[in-house]
Amino acid sequence: MAGIYIHIPFCKSKCTYCDFASFPKEIGKAEVYFACLYKEIKGKAHLLKGKKINTVYFGGGTPSFVEPKYIYGALKLIYTIFDVDKNAEITLEVNPGTIDENKLKVYKNAGINRFSVGLQSANDETLRVVNRIHNFNDFKKAMELLKDYNTSVDVMLGLPNEEYEDVEKTIKEVVKFSNVKHISCYALKAEEGTPMFTKYLNGELLSEDEVADIYDDTVKLLKEYGFDRYEVSNFCKEGYYSRHNLNYWKRGEYLGVGIGASSFINNRRFTNTESIDDYVKAILSGFTAEVFSEEVEEKDAKGEYAMLNLRTKFGIEFSEYKKIFNSDFKKDFESAIKNNLSYLEIDDKGVKIKDEYLYVQNTILVDFIDF
Ligand code: SF4
Repeated sequence: MAGIYIHIPFCKSKCTYCDFASFPKEIGKAEVYFACLYKEIKGKAHLLKGKKINTVYFGGGTPSFVEPKYIYGALKLIYTIFDVDKNAEITLEVNPGTIDENKLKVYKNAGINRFSVGLQSANDETLRVVNRIHNFNDFKKAMELLKDYNTSVDVMLGLPNEEYEDVEKTIKEVVKFSNVKHISCYALKAEEGTPMFTKYLNGELLSEDEVADIYDDTVKLLKEYGFDRYEVSNFCKEGYYSRHNLNYWKRGEYLGVGIGASSFINNRRFTNTESIDDYVKAILSGFTAEVFSEEVEEKDAKGEYAMLNLRTKFGIEFSEYKKIFNSDFKKDFESAIKNNLSYLEIDDKGVKIKDEYLYVQNTILVDFIDF
C-alpha cells in the first residue's frame, strides 16, 4: 500500500503567512510544469511497481486554481501506470473562489472523491488582513457545490486580531455543512521571511500560551460536534480519517512529484527542488529534480516510526513494532519511556501520549527521536 502526492505550485496571490512552495507570478509556466510533472510521474512509476496505491493527494499551492484539464491529465496517467485501488481516496485541495461547476465536473470525471477546502476563518476582515483571495460567502458557495462530496475544511488558530470567540464562530459555521467530515486546525506559525513574521516581531500576534488556550477550547468544541481528534491538528467524524495523512504517520511509503515534494520508498527519503525553473530544466534534460536523498538507517527508522505514530491518538502497538523491526519497543525506548512516563498512557498492548499532552508533544517526541 502506498500514496502519491502531487504538488501544484500556483496560487492567485500570496497569503501573508505562507512559506509553502507556491508562486502566484508563475502561472504562465503551468503548461511546461505539467508536461514535466507527467514526465516525472512516468519516470518514477517503477518505484511503486507491484504496490497498491490507496491514496492520491493534489496539494499546493492551490490545485483548484489551475485549469482542471491538468488535474484530469495527471490522474488519468496515474490510473494508467499505477495499480490504483478501486476505493482509493483521491483528494484535491481547493480554495474558495477558485472552483465552479465546470471545474467540478472535470474533477468528478477524473475520479476526485474528496476535497480539502482552505477556509481559515469565517471572518471577512481576517481573511482580508492575511490576503486570502476569498470571503466567507465564496466559501459558502464552494460548499454548496461540494455538498455531495466528502469534504475537509482547514481552520487556522491564532490569526491576527482573532480570539477564541472568532474560532468558535468559524467552527460553528463550518459544522453546519453536513458534507464536512474532517476539520484540520493549524496554529498560525509566523515563518521568517513572510510579512506575518514582521507582525510577530512587532508583538502583534498572540503568544504561544494564548494560542494553546484557544486550541484547548477548540478541541472541546469540536468534540461536542462529533469531531474526534486523531492527530494533534486533525479531527474527524467517525471513520473519516485522512487516509493519505495516516499513511505518513504510519510511516507508509509514498511518492511525491512536483517541486518541493518528498518521497519515502524502500527506506529512502528524497526531495525535489523548490524552484520551478530548476525543476523544469532537470526534468526536460532527462535528469532527476531531487536535491536531497538518504537511506534511513535502522536506528533512525525506529525513531521516525515512534515519533510519527505517537503524533496520533492511536500511538504505538508493540506487536506491530515487533513485526516491522523484529525488536522490542519497550527495550529499545526504555529511557525515552522512563523520562516521559507521566505524559504517556502505557499498557501491555502499546503506548500513546495522554490526550492532554498531545498539543505539547514536541518536547516528548525529541526523546523518542534521539533515543
Ligand atoms: S493559498 Fe495556500 S499555498 Fe497559496 S499562498 Fe495562500 S497559504 Fe500559500
